[in-house]
Amino acid sequence: MTSTFKISDNKDEKCRVGTLEIGEKSYLTPSFMLYTKEGSPINLTKDLLNQLPHEKTHSLQLLFSDLFQFTDVLEKFEQGVHKFLALQDHLLFLLIRDSSSFVEAEFNDDSISVTTRKGKTKITIQDYIKLVKVIKPDFVTSLSVDIAWETSKKKATKIVNSSSIWLEKFLEANTGINTFGVIQGGKFEDLRMKSLQDLLKNKDRLVGTILSGFGTGETNEERNQLINKLIDQLPKEHVKLISGVGSPEEILSLVELGIDLFSTNYPNLMTEWGNALTFKYKMNELKNNDNQEENKINLWDSKFVIDATPIIKGCECFTCIQHTKAYIHHLLNTHEMLAEVLLTIHNVSHYLGFFEEIRRVIKDSQFSEYKKLFLEKRIQINNNSNSNDN
Ligand SMILES: [Zn+2]
Repeated sequence: MTSTFKISDNKDEKCRVGTLEIGEKSYLTPSFMLYTKEGSPINLTKDLLNQLPHEKTHSLQLLFSDLFQFTDVLEKFEQGVHKFLALQDHLLFLLIRDSSSFVEAEFNDDSISVTTRKGKTKITIQDYIKLVKVIKPDFVTSLSVDIAWETSKKKATKIVNSSSIWLEKFLEANTGINTFGVIQGGKFEDLRMKSLQDLLKNKDRLVGTILSGFGTGETNEERNQLINKLIDQLPKEHVKLISGVGSPEEILSLVELGIDLFSTNYPNLMTEWGNALTFKYKMNELKNNDNQEENKINLWDSKFVIDATPIIKGCECFTCIQHTKAYIHHLLNTHEMLAEVLLTIHNVSHYLGFFEEIRRVIKDSQFSEYKKLFLEKRIQINNNSNSNDN
């Protein structure tokens, strides 16, 4: 099914609000894609996912190496990956890069190596086309592998060349699935520009562009400088996606440059560590000058043992409405899986609320002011907590 992407007219700044539509589903950007394992959103059943506040439709990052392991089942199932995963209401993106950890994939001139539970398998462009047609996601990346910032020029050149050839072949195959082109090239600007030029030859057949290979060892300045140059030359109507970066600070810098979609596992990582996100993100709250806050709290901390308050008073998520910090602390200590479920509900909801506010301030032409206030507040809180630690 063909998608459309409508962008708010934003004359003064690069940041924009977009609406990505496919069939009956409508999705607002900037936003982030939920992380999945084996195709399922981590710790969230269908009902829990559909009850999250702020958004009704979510986008999910399906990892090719996960889906690859049950394409034979999907082929026999015949009713499509949405029905199989009970995710009919949401947008499914098939991606190759795992946003939770970066391991440079093995690359051969005619294929990439995919690591699965069953070991390593080589995937050629013909294999990839065949598998994508079986999986039938809403959106798919053209075949490519992410390389680290410090990868040699020789290897980066090979990947750029192969990715361009594979993009042509993938589009020739007419899979009928909305496709994202990939800009490769590591830290080498000339290679990034070559990759971009090859992608532009097919720009009208692509719905978006993935800015690949970031979050792999570059500094924020190096990343922002390069992305700024690339985005200036990309079609405005392309959805711009980045993978592997997604802390609140990174999100604001990249939204400012025109990034629409983040493939990140940041909220899940917080959950894994027993953290609950508590940073303030509403414009009016950021203007408030109280010093009593933290950006996140760790529920393993014994100070919560009899704390009968929710993670955030007034948070609309199921966890905060129903449960106390003391209960989650207890669940963590007794190694109950429910602890992670409740933390996921809160952390994902909190991030959805953060992005909702980002879209609101862009629409109200307040983004620059918002970013400044947000970052000042974070630095102030970090400094306070460091001085308390000493
Ligand atoms: Zn909550």
